[in-house]
Parts: sequence; structure tokens; C-alpha cells
Amino acid sequence: MASEGTISTTVRVRFAPSPTGYLHIGGARTALYDWLYARHCGGVFVLRIEDTDRKRYVPDSVQDIMDGLRWLGLAWDEGPDVGGPYGPYVQSERLELYQEWAHWLVAQGHAYKCFCTPEELDQMRREQQARGEPPRYDRRCRRLSPAEVARREAEGRPYVIRFKSPLEGQVVAQDLLRGEVVVAAHTLDDFVLLKSDGFPTYHLAVVVDDHHMRITHVLRGEEWIPSLPRHKLLYDAFGWPMPVHCHLPVILDPSGKGKMSKRRAAQSGLPILVRDFREQGYLPEAIVNWLARIGWTPPDEAEVFTLEEAVRHFDIKDINPKPAAAPYSKLEWLNGVYIRALPTEELLERLIPFLSHDLGIPAQTLRQDERLRRLLPAVQERIKRLTEATALLDFLYAESLTYDPEMLIAKKLSATETLAALRAAREIIATVPFEAEALEQALRDKAAAMGLKAGQMFSPIRVAISGKKVTPPLFDMILALGRETTLRRLDEAIARLERLIATTPV
Ligand code: GLU
Repeated sequence: MASEGTISTTVRVRFAPSPTGYLHIGGARTALYDWLYARHCGGVFVLRIEDTDRKRYVPDSVQDIMDGLRWLGLAWDEGPDVGGPYGPYVQSERLELYQEWAHWLVAQGHAYKCFCTPEELDQMRREQQARGEPPRYDRRCRRLSPAEVARREAEGRPYVIRFKSPLEGQVVAQDLLRGEVVVAAHTLDDFVLLKSDGFPTYHLAVVVDDHHMRITHVLRGEEWIPSLPRHKLLYDAFGWPMPVHCHLPVILDPSGKGKMSKRRAAQSGLPILVRDFREQGYLPEAIVNWLARIGWTPPDEAEVFTLEEAVRHFDIKDINPKPAAAPYSKLEWLNGVYIRALPTEELLERLIPFLSHDLGIPAQTLRQDERLRRLLPAVQERIKRLTEATALLDFLYAESLTYDPEMLIAKKLSATETLAALRAAREIIATVPFEAEALEQALRDKAAAMGLKAGQMFSPIRVAISGKKVTPPLFDMILALGRETTLRRLDEAIARLERLIATTPV
């Protein structure tokens, strides 16, 4: 079998997740850098599913990864569902290719069949441990005679194919950001290429696929650096040119002390999976902006930039190889910036799934609700995440409000004084022309006449119509609710306050 030609001149970058769990920020950042670099170069972005580890396979994770990437705006040019010239793009559908190349390596003398059973390997490991040696395959099958190999095969004994790592010297591989990665060859064991069930290991599959898919640049997480020398050995054995390899720094938790892991995220209540960010009301635009900035700084050092701007400026040589902490508080801020930049109609569309879910109201009903539209600009100013809108808007849809009547009582006023203020407010709202300025002026005048501060008049009204102290602007709420509902809620509040006064011992 001949090699498949040389590396193409079009930049081809792949994101190669294993479907062993849902898409998390580390994977999303890798995918983003892959995507940015491909787009920056006018190249091709490939999605490949590396599902050869059947034990760790999580069935719905492929869908989750694809949904997450698309939601973030990182669409691929070639991949499992869209196809492409070098497919299939799912490793479990490419087993024959790996098997062929594994056997080719055996035929060329670069690999050998190993018949050791799990029990034998276990025994070997225990003996090595007892001698204080690092556990490593002792290469016993590397020394089998061709006749012995043939005999065992004829008996139908299962085998794996192992790579013949060099016994001495150094293996030198290149990382774009770090330069040479050098290891002593003897520290690399004769790693498995093909398992006895015919599945390849990661090392074989990744090299065969990166070559056959004409990948020019491998951008992947730093945790794969230890694999790089093995991949170098494989490329050399195959006689294939090695793509540029660039290992991306890990993302640390906000304290900068350790890798951002699921466990740390769970402990701190921070989102880590892309689906968590989505559920918690973050916008994809904000997330990609934030992720791009963990490890890369645009030339003008801007904090806020569009994906298009990032595409224009992104270059892998500018990636900072130092691990960086994930600044979650910055994400919160950025998300607010992006929310405020949305056209109101667009904000409404983004809010609808959350509101519909939280309030149990069909999307179409919400879409047609003029009262909701009226309040949107105020909501837009106040929220940092989409999830926060419900608390500002649910008063519109409540049949009756539940709140502690004590909340009605204005600062530095007694319950009786508050009651007087609420009764006066009710009178004004029932009679003054129902528009913001007229209502506000009349209420302010009345407050002054009663010797009250405007806030002492407004705050009981606020609680009466919303059941809350933190709300959109008062007059926006009153107008959105309409006169009738506003008056009804004021009446209820007055009644509650009267009961409170009646039952409070003097
Ligand atoms: N399949 C590996 C993972 O899930 C990616 C390794 C690579 O990009 O070479 O992390």
C-alpha cells in the first residue's frame, strides 16, 4: 500500500472529540481555536468523532457535541452528518482502514503481534511493581520467531498489534508553541496499535486519520503532548509527513490552582458543560468571545470582539502556551454587554424559551404579548443572563401575588402611614390619565402634599403590583399591567395591609 500523498496546501484543521461525555468548555475552546484558524486561513474545518474507546462511550454525547458546536456558531465543513471527500468521519466506521495499516506496519517490521493474555500482563505488572520498576510491557512477543507467531495464529489465539518502539536514542517531535518535545526512546513502551477486537487505539487511529483526512494543523489540548512522540514514531514508520502540531494550554479554574474539571465546577456551582452555559442563560456570542480570550489576545487587546474580528486576527503563533484561569466574572459581564447589544426583537426570541419554560406559557402567546414587549427595554438594561428575565416579568402573568405584607411597608413609615399612601395612590391611578408622565407627576405631588418622599410612595406600589422590591421601572410596570389589574392589585395590597394592622398587637 502506498502513502496517500503529501500534505495539501489548503489549511485543514480538525476537531476530534471522543464521545465519552458532553461538550465542556475545554473541548469548546479547542474547537473554537480549530475553527478560528481554519477560517482565518480560508481553510477547512473538519469534525471527526473518535469513538474507538467503546467502554467509555456515552451514547447521546455525539449529539450533544454537535448541538453544542452548532449553537456556538462553529459549523464544520466536513463531518459525520455533512459528509465530505475523506469520510466516513466517525472512527468506528473506519475500522478496516486502521486494520490494514496496522498489518502494513507488521509487514514492514515496524510492529508485531502480541499474544499475551490479560492475566499474563497482570502478572508481569505485579512482578515489575514488586521489583520497584515502572509497569511496562516487557516486549516478550517482540522476540517471538516467525514460526512461533504462525503457530499461535494457527491456534486462533487472540492478539494485539504493538508498535516496535526504538530501544535507544531520542524521539524529537515539534510543537508549534513549545518547540522541541524530546523524550528518551526507551521510556516509550511498545504501545498497542490494534486491540484484539479489531479496534484501533487512539494513537493509531489519530495518525491514520489525520493523514488520510489531509489534516495540515493539529490543534488539540495540552494533555496530548505525552502522545506526540508516539505519533512522531508512527508518522516516521509510515513515511508520512507530519502535520503541524500545536497543543493548547489547559483552562484552569478561576483561582488558577487546578485544571477546570467537572468536580471543581460542581463544587463551585460554575457551569462547565456547554449545555450548562446555555441553560444558565449565557449567549453563544459571549461564550465564544470569552473562550477566545482565554489564551489569546487580539492585536488591539480588546475584551469585546465579534467572531468575524477574531477570524481576521487569530493566528496560532499568538496563542499563549501558559495555562490560564477561566475568568467567570468576566463572562457574566460580557454576557450583559452582548444582551444589551441585541436588537429587542432578537432579545425577545432568545428569552422566549426561558420564559415559556419558567412561566408555562406557550411561545406564541408570549411573542404576541404587547405588555412583554413594552417591558423589554427595561429588562434588557437589567439582566446579565437570560434566566434573570423571568423574575422581572413573572408579575405580568401571576394570577395572584404571594408576598409578605410586611414588604409593603415603606422605609421609615409605619404600616398605617403606608396604608394611607397606598390608598392615595389608588385614588390617583384610578382617576389621572393613564400615561407615565401624568401618573408620576400626580403621585409625586401627592407624596409631597402628604410629607412623604417619592420613594415612600413608590415602593409600596411596586410591591403591591409585583410582589417584589427589585423590578423593572415602576411606571413601565403600571402601563404594562393596565389600569384594571393595577387597581386590583392595589386593592389586594390595601386589604392585606389592613389585615396586618388589625392583627398586630399595639
Ligand atoms: N479524541 C481526543 C479527545 O477526545 C482528541 C485527541 C486529538 O485531538 O488528537 O480529546
